[in-house]
Amino acid sequence: GQSWLAVGSAMRALIDEVTGKSDAAPMEFYDYLVVGAGFAGAVMAERLARDGGKRVLVIDRRDLIGGNAHDHPDEAGIMVHRYGPHIFHTNSQDIVDYLSQFTEWRPYEHRVLADLGGMQVPMPINRTTLNRLYGLNLQTEAEAEDFLAQRAEPVEPLVTSADVVISKVGRELYEAFFRGYTRKQWGMDPSELDKSVTARVPTRTNTDDRYFTDSFQAMPADGYTAMFNAMLDHPLIDIRLGVDFDDIRKQVHFDRLVFTGPIDEYFNHCFGKLPYRSLEFRHVTLDQEWLQPVAVINYPAEDVRFTRVTEYKHLTGQVAEKTSITYEYPCAEGDPYYPIPRPENQALFRRYEDLAASTPDVLFVGRLATYRYYNMDQVVGQALAKYRRHIAQVREEEAM
Ligand code: FAD
Ligand code: UDP
Repeated sequence: GQSWLAVGSAMRALIDEVTGKSDAAPMEFYDYLVVGAGFAGAVMAERLARDGGKRVLVIDRRDLIGGNAHDHPDEAGIMVHRYGPHIFHTNSQDIVDYLSQFTEWRPYEHRVLADLGGMQVPMPINRTTLNRLYGLNLQTEAEAEDFLAQRAEPVEPLVTSADVVISKVGRELYEAFFRGYTRKQWGMDPSELDKSVTARVPTRTNTDDRYFTDSFQAMPADGYTAMFNAMLDHPLIDIRLGVDFDDIRKQVHFDRLVFTGPIDEYFNHCFGKLPYRSLEFRHVTLDQEWLQPVAVINYPAEDVRFTRVTEYKHLTGQVAEKTSITYEYPCAEGDPYYPIPRPENQALFRRYEDLAASTPDVLFVGRLATYRYYNMDQVVGQALAKYRRHIAQVREEEAM
């Protein structure tokens, strides 16, 4: 902790003095160590170096950058996402402006179908979904609203992920689209999960079949990894991959730490393990041009073990004779991908958060370190805000 951080700075000052040129200090001394090269770590590193003028070492235990948003060309040359499909969408112009310094964009609006035993209908549920499923001809929003209102079951108060859906569309549509998918994805019934989980997916009475309605929806033109490379390409940033925090913490000297891994891991699980849901990905290349009419098909049925299938060329616009897809199989063990929104998990996280608040010189940022089911844009927003607050404080201290 604190004492050897102080020793680190003292040693650097000494070496600076001996070599007589403080701006050429050996690079094993850093102002900041950033653990994790995903969105949270990359934004923090970029800001600290480019805006703050700080020397930064970024490490990741994986041998790649981008965290879960990492993408790469597979053996067939098709750009795929190693950790499942990542579609960028946001309502924040600030976040778009920030990321646009590092990438061009390819406009892309995400569309998803749900496969109900072979019948494929738009998801989120919209008027087209209802018409196809029930052989109806609902023409207006009002007609679709009436139809849903007849099925909706009032639930008071709305607490769980079952409540939000049943209160909007009724039990039958809930069971067809949400119950099985959620049970597979989270390993628990929607009635055991916070309402925020299924509330991510709206219900519509119009025929808008886009998955998101955000004002900005696009993919980085050359992919996420290229964008991360541009963010981290700075003379004050060093990167070491395939390195765990535990392996390096004693080998390099740093004044402050940015930690973007699981917060419970940082504190050696002292209050017990925070649950994270994991996934197994099966990546396949097919000897055909296309498999699906849209990028993602969801499989809510419980007897199908995977939750969804993604065909990447829809996302990237790439032209190729073959096509690459990914199946997602949810599981309990493995890399932590999703914090699990439940009251008791939130309570446990709060204990770690209190501990974090009394751990100076360590900044906890990102989906795993703040235990929040955040999309990419939210992580960028969180990191930018955290940086702004932090650097203001540091500059105040440095001025004293
Ligand atoms: P991460 O990307 O998890 O990065 C953390 C990094 O820290 C990892 O690379 C990890 O290896 C490293 N690390 C952790 N501990 C240590 C340690 N002790 N030592 C060294 N390194 C360590 N968001 C969207 O906006 N749109 C989407 O379509 C979307 N789809 C998603 C699909 C899936 C399957 C998943 C899992 C997530 C999806 N997300 C999506 C969310 C998105 O992935 C996250 O918001 C974002 O990537 C989080 O960035 P992060 O930096 O907080 O965490
Ligand atoms: N969900 C569902 N059926 C679907 C799509 C989503 O039950 O067809 C539920 C499920 O619990 C899922 C949550 O809604 O985890 C959020 O869905 P989203 O597509 O946002 O999940 P993510 O892309 O974050 O995995």
